[in-house]
Amino acid sequence: MDAVVVGGGPAGAGLATQLARRGAAVTLLEREAGPVDKVCGEFLSHEAARYLRELGLEPTTLGAVPIHTLRLAHRRVVVEARLPFEAFSLSRRVLDEALLARASSAGVDVRRGCKVVELARLDEGWGARPAVGDSVFARAAFLASGKHDVRGLRRPRGLQSDLVAFKMHWRLTHRQARELNRHVEIVLFDGGYLGLEPIEAGLANLCLVVRRHRLQAYGGSWESLIVSIRAECPHLDARLSEAEACWAKPLALATIPYGHVQLGDDDGLYRLGDQAAVIPSFSGDGVAIALHSAVIAASTFLGGSTADVYQRRLARETRRRVLFATLLSQALVRAPAQWILAAAARGFPRLMSAIATGTRLPTSALARALRESRA
Ligand SMILES: Cc1cc2nc3c(=O)[nH]c(=O)nc-3n(C[C@H](O)[C@H](O)[C@H](O)COP(=O)(O)OP(=O)(O)OC[C@H]3O[C@@H](n4cnc5c(N)ncnc54)[C@H](O)[C@@H]3O)c2cc1C
Repeated sequence: MDAVVVGGGPAGAGLATQLARRGAAVTLLEREAGPVDKVCGEFLSHEAARYLRELGLEPTTLGAVPIHTLRLAHRRVVVEARLPFEAFSLSRRVLDEALLARASSAGVDVRRGCKVVELARLDEGWGARPAVGDSVFARAAFLASGKHDVRGLRRPRGLQSDLVAFKMHWRLTHRQARELNRHVEIVLFDGGYLGLEPIEAGLANLCLVVRRHRLQAYGGSWESLIVSIRAECPHLDARLSEAEACWAKPLALATIPYGHVQLGDDDGLYRLGDQAAVIPSFSGDGVAIALHSAVIAASTFLGGSTADVYQRRLARETRRRVLFATLLSQALVRAPAQWILAAAARGFPRLMSAIATGTRLPTSALARALRESRA
């Protein structure tokens, strides 16, 4: 076996497909046995769309909804700006399954319901031990377990780690859905921010992050949090007034290490996606970074270079954008900065487009990786 990949999200499935297409023998271990919803804003940036197309997946064919305009709401202020690039939204349930199906059809041995509990360096290569079943041995190991750390390989806390995330799908009324059509809406509220956008099947996804101590002040529960945010922001209240929540409970995630970037390491392990670089969610570029890491890890490995060389390159290409986005994210959850940003965006709506451009993968890094994936 050439490679064992831990995790079948965008990073793991993207990487496994790239390797298998170029002749490597790959086993991918994914802990979920079937399709699931995942905490994510479900915004697909143009970089993510480019990488998906390279893998043979056209976002609109999967049901993705085009997004053209960013709408920012804070208290009673609502400002709009056209996005400076093509974007989509698509549920992770659909996206991740499509990526895993693509990996299988490229020849990857995809094993579902297979949670890795130990990843160990051996004399010659690596061993991945699942909770149930036999270990998998391979020449190289790729850690793509995303938001979840494998035992013994915990990531550092990052630069902003006091946020809790929630996600809920909604069925909006016809009028609300029409108003949201082709828009991603960002709402700033006391202690956090949220994104709301239409996804496939006529649904809308709401994903938010809130500072832990504010959540407690809000009463500690999702219900009291949503009630308080609606009271604070009439725009969101109107959006959700007759909407139906699709699940009894939201998905939740604690301790996200925003701002973490894995620098070079000589342990020989390739770390991808959120295991390597965690960009704050408002940028909507995490999936793109995951797919980018997959492309450059594949070309580094197949080119005979080391994990350390790959890791340093990924850090070089992402570090500044991740840092800028994290500093902004730290400001976005604080009241004074929220007032300033909302006022500035009101005066100069193009500021929002500039922020959207400055918080994503640099175009030079994208172009270079795309050239490599076609070589
Ligand atoms: C609140 C929030 C909102 C976000 N919104 C957006 C957005 O709108 N747009 C965007 O582009 N990005 C967004 N992101 C970021 C995005 O979700 C991640 O960057 C992206 O999912 C990273 O992909 P990945 O493949 O590295 O990890 P993941 O998507 O987390 O996938 C990891 C996979 O590994 C599996 N796994 C985990 N542990 C194990 C194990 N031990 N053994 C086997 N399998 C395992 C998991 O089941 C999962 O399938 C958001 C993040 C957060 C926290």
